[in-house]
Amino acid sequence: MTVQHHPMIIGGHEVDTGERLEIIDPSTGEVTATVARGDESHIDLAVESGRKAFDAGDWSRAAPAERSAVLHELARLLGENIEEMVELEIQANGATVRQATGFHVGLAAPHLEYFANLAATYEFETPTKIAAFPTVGQSTVRREPIGVVGAVAPWNFPLLLGLWKMAPALAAGNSVVIKPDEKTPLSTLLFARLALEAGLPAGVLNVVPGIGHVAGARLAAHPGVGKIGFTGSTAVGKEIMKASAETLKGVTLELGGKSPAIVLDDADLDTTADGLLWGCMLYSGQICMSMTRALVPESRKDEFVERLVERASTIRFGGTRDWETDMGPLISQRQKDRVLGYIESGKQEGATLALGGGVPDGADLGGGYYVEPTIFTDVTPDMKIAREEIFGPVLSVLTYRSEAEALEIANDSDYGLASSIWSSDNSRALEMAGQVQAGTVWINDAHKINVEVPFGGYKQSGVGRELGPHALDHYTEVKDVYLDLSNDKAARPWDVLLSHADD
Ligand code: NAD
Repeated sequence: MTVQHHPMIIGGHEVDTGERLEIIDPSTGEVTATVARGDESHIDLAVESGRKAFDAGDWSRAAPAERSAVLHELARLLGENIEEMVELEIQANGATVRQATGFHVGLAAPHLEYFANLAATYEFETPTKIAAFPTVGQSTVRREPIGVVGAVAPWNFPLLLGLWKMAPALAAGNSVVIKPDEKTPLSTLLFARLALEAGLPAGVLNVVPGIGHVAGARLAAHPGVGKIGFTGSTAVGKEIMKASAETLKGVTLELGGKSPAIVLDDADLDTTADGLLWGCMLYSGQICMSMTRALVPESRKDEFVERLVERASTIRFGGTRDWETDMGPLISQRQKDRVLGYIESGKQEGATLALGGGVPDGADLGGGYYVEPTIFTDVTPDMKIAREEIFGPVLSVLTYRSEAEALEIANDSDYGLASSIWSSDNSRALEMAGQVQAGTVWINDAHKINVEVPFGGYKQSGVGRELGPHALDHYTEVKDVYLDLSNDKAARPWDVLLSHADD
């Protein structure tokens, strides 16, 4: 395989540097591509280009319908290039072809379509008659683009989570500088090339691949950037917030999770076992909202674990381009070591390994970063595997004796991103949902991302929400323009100050 090199995109041009990032295929451990590595100077250049494009007004002051048309065309091009996008996500991100087709790339075009529609229908101006004050006038509350906004994306869903920031920011008329994760910039670079083809003016979307604490940190601190949208770890989210504080930038932070799945005593255990494995093991558990803590009634634990183990044992490993493969590798050797370290800590702290815990064999898995689906029982809430985000295919089963105890365990976490309740009684589950401290509660399902509703976390899982109409609120400034309509100097209260002016 020839190792192709990809430049970054700034001001509508391909920009190369002497420094390179290596893109490694997680299923083989081989370098498959290189990408120009941007540093602080490239971020500065990208922000300058974004500002120039913003001030030129071709995008920032374009009619919403024009912006909508370009975003629709971009969504169409995304659909047309789906095979190449899927290949890029498999190559850099280790998604299996089924995951990349269904999720990593498959959701991107519909999500972009949603924001393209929103660009045309969003209320950018709200006129309000003001008659109560002594004067008569009209206020127009405007939602205006902020200027240049920064996006910092993670490696687990590079295109999709980048798009959750780029799409509303562009729909609102902003210029964007995005720093993709250093391991997975390929799909974002292709997206930016397609955006130019769709008619997005040069400089409106700039992509600077680079190392987080260098290029990412500069973007968060840059005085010319008015807002940062970030998805990643809670630790880095705190760094971004600190860096943003210097210039009082707005932030939207989507961070880590340790999501609980509360299995009620009336749940259908066959459906719940499948749903929970889907919720925990999809993309080898490298999803912020993965259901990593199963809370099960003590009286039903054994029958439930039996089903979980039986169903999880059918998960097939294989090459990431093979449609028969159920589970692919982790993103890197580092992540694999980290996950195996957590599995070791679970054993040492006294949890019982019910399934997995190791590395799968297979002639075709040699160089890849694979870890078996792993299920621990006898987990207690104080164990590391019950408290920390592992970001791997590891499910911890905990037991409870009463609903109150289930809720206490579920909420006893620094995180509050997602959660699920499994029950055959909808009203009972809906009632319980009100008491779970999480930004999303799924009832009898998991990973149900709907672009029309807000997504984000309680507590240390984030600040603000992405998706839904109010994603656009977060990428706009609010301006009130007041127009006096009284035409009557006497009707204004100016004589409070100027009572002697006409003497
Ligand atoms: P990470 O925080 O290490 O990296 C995320 C991004 O931040 C990367 O682009 C990285 O280069 C950049 N970065 C790193 N240090 C930086 C710094 N000092 N300043 C600016 N940018 C910096 O996270 P990760 O390991 O890539 O992703 C996994 C994490 O992301 C998990 O914790 C997961 O839960 C979280 N995540 C959250 C959501 C959500 O929607 N809440 C979705 C996906 C992933």
